[in-house]
Amino acid sequence: MAYVISDECIACGACADECPVSAISEGDGKYVIDADTCISCGACAGTCPVGAPSEE
Ligand code: SF4
Ligand code: SF4
Repeated sequence: MAYVISDECIACGACADECPVSAISEGDGKYVIDADTCISCGACAGTCPVGAPSEE
């Protein structure tokens, strides 16, 4: 199961730098995770200052 980023995201971009498979990109007002690329490592959740990423 992939991680997803909630609307809590403040688009800081920190998670995108931490993702080992570059699954995170900037979307419309928040960052988004490509579910097909995500390996569910949890690095984004550990990096996010507002706890926006969670496992779906
Ligand atoms: Fe990337 Fe890991 Fe977050 Fe998936 S869980 S988006 S692989 S950092
Ligand atoms: Fe959004 Fe959190 Fe990623 Fe920053 S680290 S872009 S707040 S999901």
